[in-house]
Amino acid sequence: MSRTRALTLLILSILGIFAAYQYNRSTMATTPKLIPTSAIAKNGAIVVGSGLAGLSAASELIAANIPVRLLERNAKPGGNSIKASSGINGAPTLFQPGPPDTEFYADTIKSAGYAMSTAREHREKLIGTLTNSSASAVTWLNTTHGIDLSKVAQLGGHSRARTHRGAGGTPPGFAIVSTLLKSLKASPLFELKTSCTVNRLLRSGSSVTGVEYTCISPEAESTTSELHGPVIVTTGGFAGDAAGLLATHRPDLANFPSTNDPAPGFTHLLTSVGAQLLDMSSVQVHPTGFVDPANPSSPLKFLAAEVLRGEGGILLHDGERFFNELETREKVTAAILKNPPIEEKPKQWDVLLVLDEGVYEAAKSHIDFYIFKGLIRKTTIGDLGEKALPTIQEYAGAVAGKYEDKFGRTAFANWKLLEPEADSVVYVGRVTPVVHFTMGGVVISEKAEVLDAQGVPVEGVWAAGEVTGGVHGGNRLGGSSLLECVVFGRNAGERVVEYVKKEEK
Ligand SMILES: Cc1cc2nc3c(=O)[nH]c(=O)nc-3n(C[C@H](O)[C@H](O)[C@H](O)COP(=O)(O)OP(=O)(O)OC[C@H]3O[C@@H](n4cnc5c(N)ncnc54)[C@H](O)[C@@H]3O)c2cc1C
Repeated sequence: MSRTRALTLLILSILGIFAAYQYNRSTMATTPKLIPTSAIAKNGAIVVGSGLAGLSAASELIAANIPVRLLERNAKPGGNSIKASSGINGAPTLFQPGPPDTEFYADTIKSAGYAMSTAREHREKLIGTLTNSSASAVTWLNTTHGIDLSKVAQLGGHSRARTHRGAGGTPPGFAIVSTLLKSLKASPLFELKTSCTVNRLLRSGSSVTGVEYTCISPEAESTTSELHGPVIVTTGGFAGDAAGLLATHRPDLANFPSTNDPAPGFTHLLTSVGAQLLDMSSVQVHPTGFVDPANPSSPLKFLAAEVLRGEGGILLHDGERFFNELETREKVTAAILKNPPIEEKPKQWDVLLVLDEGVYEAAKSHIDFYIFKGLIRKTTIGDLGEKALPTIQEYAGAVAGKYEDKFGRTAFANWKLLEPEADSVVYVGRVTPVVHFTMGGVVISEKAEVLDAQGVPVEGVWAAGEVTGGVHGGNRLGGSSLLECVVFGRNAGERVVEYVKKEEK
């Protein structure tokens, strides 16, 4: 090959690589509404918190070519969103079986319960936005981002199956968070700073103009700096703030363990610039979080899925059953709390979740995982103390239909052990009530604007996700918190795109 031909081929291949790079960059953007580089806001936007709400907001900004600096206090991104296991609500969607689902709004109003007697009009707007945007939220994740959400389940409180997750084994929180993060990291306009905590919002007059934040280096050195630009606060809830916000707003739940990472809540970032709080005492407590025998005093607990009781499992306190295990979460929790806790920090009770071979077979994938994590062990009834055998024999009699269950339980699903003996095999884990979700937070509009005491948006700041209050009222429907992150996170992102463009003019 002549030198000239070789040089020509080299230049052509460099041009080819460049063209492919440009093509990839343009197809990576999720919407076609690109604006010229000259028009990009000098500083771009700031997002605080890398859970699903923050990632949804950041995705909208990046799609519109607005630079994003995302600050995350943890060393790893994803927040509590990455743990979500049941799925995200959407209605009506292509994946739902049967006629179009029109009941989501009504189910959410019903679930919000007593809270609807205050600020009704405001709540109706938020719930309308949540439910009316739910189908497009699922489409955005599924079609724009390629996340499988084809499997649909019906959770408690829903009149239809509308909670979407993937058909494979990947939990929905992980699938959604990892896909959005990957797409964001592929953009040169996106910068993620981990181990960086925002301490306060900066202001000029009554407008928010940026953040002050402190980063901790791997050598444990801290540096405090400022960033300037519009701010979206997506710092999550306060279920893991056992001695702080939880103790303030629900003293009865102070020092309870949680399924959320133990960390302070950050509503004060927003109340310090005039935001109002709503529903702070509405807290979801789950009756069964596993106490890990290898680390019993950890404030962070794994959720013992409701399916374990649903498939026939029972709860024992001091060797005896004490309630209908299939009652609502609130009632089962209240029955456990009637007994004194056996530890104060974290505050926890000594309750055993007991399953037989029939329950094991029906929920094998869950139980094998819990056995692998050391949270459930295979043993015999004789190992559970003197009172356990007569208790389980009495339950088995009710399952066999010899008499009515003394706690009114009528469904026993897959419990098969009808003649229990001391050497009968059972699967056992210790459980205790855990704080799971906080409905309360800062008041926002349906556009994710942060509202002051007069209901006026505070300029320069938006909020979305579990840090906000009012969307769920007294009780959150399962699957609706991932949904609120996507709907209001995207709304916040879109508003900041408008704000940046207006500022540029
Ligand atoms: C085990 C478990 C299972 C769940 N399953 C489901 C489910 O199946 N479906 C569903 O809808 N919901 C589920 N939820 C609830 C749902 O996951 C959360 O409510 C939701 O993901 C909250 O998202 P977020 O973005 O608001 O907050 P998060 O995901 O918690 O993210 C907030 C982020 O902000 C960071 N942060 C906080 N303060 C600062 C600061 N000052 N500076 C910088 N960073 C900060 C935090 O470190 C965190 O990473 C589940 C929750 C748990 C714990």
